[in-house]
Amino acid sequence: SLTNRLQNVFSKLRGKGKVTEEDLNEAMREVRLALLEADVNFKVVKDFIAKVKEKALGLDVSKSFTPGMVVIDIVNKELTELMGGTQSKLAKANKPPTVIMMVGLQGAGKTTTTAKLAKLLQKGNSKPLLVACDIYRPAAIKQLQVLGEQINAPVFSLGDQTSPVEIAKAGLAHAKENHNDYVIFDTAGRLHIDEALMEELKQIHQNVKPDEVLLVVDAMTGQDAVNVAQSFHDQLELTGVVLTKLDGDTRGGAALSVKAVTGKPIKFAAMGEKIDALEPFHPDRMASRILGMGDMLSLIEKAQANIDADKAAEMERKMRTAEFTFDDFLEQMAQIRNLGPLDQLMDMLPGMNKMKGNMKDLKVDEKQINRVEAIVRSMTKAEKQKPELLNHSRRKRVAAGSGTSITEVNRLIKQFEDMRKMMKQFSSMMGPKGPKGGMK
Ligand code: GDP
Ligand code: MG
Repeated sequence: SLTNRLQNVFSKLRGKGKVTEEDLNEAMREVRLALLEADVNFKVVKDFIAKVKEKALGLDVSKSFTPGMVVIDIVNKELTELMGGTQSKLAKANKPPTVIMMVGLQGAGKTTTTAKLAKLLQKGNSKPLLVACDIYRPAAIKQLQVLGEQINAPVFSLGDQTSPVEIAKAGLAHAKENHNDYVIFDTAGRLHIDEALMEELKQIHQNVKPDEVLLVVDAMTGQDAVNVAQSFHDQLELTGVVLTKLDGDTRGGAALSVKAVTGKPIKFAAMGEKIDALEPFHPDRMASRILGMGDMLSLIEKAQANIDADKAAEMERKMRTAEFTFDDFLEQMAQIRNLGPLDQLMDMLPGMNKMKGNMKDLKVDEKQINRVEAIVRSMTKAEKQKPELLNHSRRKRVAAGSGTSITEVNRLIKQFEDMRKMMKQFSSMMGPKGPKGGMK
């Protein structure tokens, strides 16, 4: 996937103490391929790569202590920019109702999204009216009515024998009479863009004068989705995009291209069939999701503020040379504890979510640290250095000596091994020079 490929590129960079222009070019070639494979528009890719290179060279990445991280940071920020930078809010009419028109190809998710959006608006104490303008697709009206019932929102319909333009006009009048502050028009789609569909949409547009024309785009359709967006935009003057089916196996192409190609921001993202699976779209969150970084960048910042660089470098070296012992373990626990709740940290480390399941027991609190210390202190010097020595009878002795139980000792040894794994991840993330570095 795109995320995997980008992670591969960046793990190569992270390992480098120095990033030359050649390294950067190589990395950018791979990022370029990854984006193209994810079905991002080629022109968008070209511009993107040019911008990242320019910024990276401008910062003179080679002088940074953590050059790999600087490049990742730049890519992250540029991806965010590419998707619009900041969250783009729904327009609001000066005089209600705010009129929203949903358009898009058949099956993109217009009808579902109409109801989801209504539900979101209801949460903000609004009273949306839904209007059923798709008279062509069998049972489309019924579908909207069922959804409306689920969320307790009124649905306006004149059946399937009245023209959509007339329905739209009457729906708007109805919303005004009933003091609905939002009115959302669910319109018909086609499998492909065609003249008749566009003409009908244009007429609805002229009559209801929408504040928002939201193009609903199935994110799984990749670059095709963007071509669709372009032709709708040529005809209808879109105001925004809703990306649907982001819960599926999307390659990311649509999310990354659609803003750049149409100039219109993604306003909402739908992540499932359930009626509350719609969220305002946040470009920064999407960027870190694509990079598979979780909140890694914020972890880096925290780590820079809290971890002693020399100690970290020494620990690093120990990890690499497998010298990491139970004494280091204690030390490390104390340092990591300074960063915040461990399970929160785990969420921020790429690849850690998988491991987390095995580490449910790994809770760090004061009391437990004390018991852990007691256990470690009851080990012989040799045992601390070589935990493999701790067979069953030694473990029993350690339990007795520390006033704990064999279960606790076993658990700690298991945690130690998990911690070793985690530190390995952590240190490769920080690069060989340790966490203090040139992140801007
Ligand atoms: P329309 O033809 O554009 O009105 O599309 P519909 O609203 O009828 O949706 C088509 C199909 O896509 C339905 O089966 C929906 O349940 C499904 N769907 C819509 N949005 C999402 C989404 O975000 N995730 C998933 N998994 N399915 C969705
Ligand atoms: Mg529909």
